[in-house]
Amino acid sequence: INLQKAEFVRSAAKAGDFPRDRLPQVAFAGRSNVGKSSVINRLLNRKNFARVGAAPGKTTHINYFLIDSAFYLVDLPGYGYAKVSMAERQRWGRLMEEWFADPGLMTLGLMIVDARHKPTADDCTMASFFKNSGRPFAVVANKLDKLRKSDIQPNLARIRGTLELADSVKLIPFSAEKGEGKQDLLNLILSHVED
Ligand code: GDP
Repeated sequence: INLQKAEFVRSAAKAGDFPRDRLPQVAFAGRSNVGKSSVINRLLNRKNFARVGAAPGKTTHINYFLIDSAFYLVDLPGYGYAKVSMAERQRWGRLMEEWFADPGLMTLGLMIVDARHKPTADDCTMASFFKNSGRPFAVVANKLDKLRKSDIQPNLARIRGTLELADSVKLIPFSAEKGEGKQDLLNLILSHVED
């Protein structure tokens, strides 16, 4: 699979817009500003593919990218942005419920969290969506470069504990900035989309 061959396919705001063509779908979720776009760009070796620093507010769209005609990279809307209205929050919740209601849609779920911080209540909500889906998922602890070495293991343990991750759920230390963890994440993705 050539990850350089990536194209934007569509932006979906409701269930009727979700692609359902049997291609594997790898979904990315994360709080606004956690670096989700940066992680995606790092994986695809692109600079500005997924928009970095995009103005929060487009919280109600799921963006689909087709990677080498082999799988969809599904960019779930960021959450947890303080200035988002209650109505917008509810739209986000409804869209996620619709998306997760169809377990056939997700091949692998990836949740990005900030390696520095204890996961928020919103992160725990997102983790519940993934856990309840019964589909494989993993957590990516991004911004590792901002941690002191001695803080890495305790922070990873806190993330695992707060999100109540089963031992089988992988937690991948990552830095979109430095590229750390890229190969681990790629291997995980490819193991789920290649047959
Ligand atoms: P998104 O809202 O989750 O898509 O987040 P962005 O990708 O737009 O990143 C938010 C901010 O965090 C930007 O200023 C990025 O440059 C920065 N950022 C993202 N990943 C990393 C990382 O691994 N390390 C550092 N130091 N900064 C990062």
